[in-house]
Amino acid sequence: MNIYKATEENIRKAAGIIKSGGLVAFPTETVYGLGANGLNPEAVAKIFEAKQRPTFNPLILHIRSFDQLNLIANSDDLIVEKLIKKFWPGPLTLVLKKKEIVPEIVTAGNLTVAVRMPANETAQKLIDYSGVPIAAPSANAFGFLSPTTARHVANQLGEKVEMILDGGNTEVGIESTIIEISDEGIFLLRPGGLPVEEIEKLTGKLNIKTGDAKPNSPGQLPFHYSPKIPLRFFDEVTEEEIRGKKKAALFFREPENEKEYVLIKCLSPEGKLRQAAANLFAYLYELEASGAEIILAEKPPSEGLGIAILDRLQRASKRY
Ligand code: AMP
Ligand code: MG
Repeated sequence: MNIYKATEENIRKAAGIIKSGGLVAFPTETVYGLGANGLNPEAVAKIFEAKQRPTFNPLILHIRSFDQLNLIANSDDLIVEKLIKKFWPGPLTLVLKKKEIVPEIVTAGNLTVAVRMPANETAQKLIDYSGVPIAAPSANAFGFLSPTTARHVANQLGEKVEMILDGGNTEVGIESTIIEISDEGIFLLRPGGLPVEEIEKLTGKLNIKTGDAKPNSPGQLPFHYSPKIPLRFFDEVTEEEIRGKKKAALFFREPENEKEYVLIKCLSPEGKLRQAAANLFAYLYELEASGAEIILAEKPPSEGLGIAILDRLQRASKRY
C-alpha cells in the first residue's frame, strides 16, 4: 500500500519524488490533488496517463510564494493583487497570462495559466520542499468523484501514483473557485469552495464564462487550443484539400517524404506516448507558425495517452 502519513519525513520523501519527475497525491484544503513538477512536461504527462483522461484539460499550478507566481504568470494588476491579499492561501484559482517557462502541456496549449496557493499545511510543505510549482488536478480517475480522503485516492489510482500523503479529510471538500483576469474583464470560470459573493465584494459583479467554447469563435473561452491553420490526418485528407498548398507535417514517430513539407515534427522519435504528449502543444504552435497553410498529422496509437493526443488532433481537424 502506498499511503503514507503526512509526517515531516514523508513529505520530504514525497518532495524527492516530485523533484525526480514522479507523481505524488497530496491533500489540499479543497480535495486531494495528483501532483507532478509543473515545470517538467514529461512529469505532467504522467498525470494524464494516471487519470486516464481521454482528453487534455489545463491544470492548476500550486505555488507557495510570490516569487513562484512571478516565475509562471503575469500578475501585475491591481485587482489581482487585491484578490491575492484577501484570499490566498485559499480555495481561489486565478487564471492569468502565462510566462514562457510554463510547459504547454500544463495549460493544454492556452496562453493563460491557472494558479493557486493552497492553505493546507501538507500541500504547502510539499511545494516548499520540492522547490517547484506543482501541477495538480483532482486525484481521481476519469469520471469518478473527486477524492477527499487518501483512501479514495488509493481506491481510484492505486499504484499509478508513487506515494499518497495522508492528511486526513480535506476541509472544503469541493474544488476551488476559478476566475480569469484578462484585458477583457474578470470572469467566473467555475464556482467552487470560495463563494462568488465574497469575490464580488472586491471585484464587483463577475462575468460568467463556463462550459465549452466553440474553438472557432474568436474572443470565446480559449479552453481548447487548436492551431490557427487547418489540420488533417494523412489517412483522411483529400487531394483537393492539399493541392498547391504549403504543408507542414506532424508524425508520431518517423517522418516520410521530407522534401514535401516546410516543417516536420515527430512527436516521439522513440515511440513513447509520454514524450509525445509532452511535445504535442509546443509542436502544434511551431507548425502553426511555420508558414504552412495546412498541417498533416499522423494518428497516434489509440491507447493510453494516445487517446488524449488523438482527441486533441481530432478537435483541431474539426476547427476548419
Ligand atoms: P481541477 O484541477 O480538477 O480542479 O480542474 C482544473 C480546471 O481548471 C480545468 O478543468 C479548467 O476548467 C480550469 N483551468 C485550468 N487552467 C485554465 C486556463 N488556462 N484557462 C481556463 N481554464 C483553466
Ligand atoms: Mg477534477
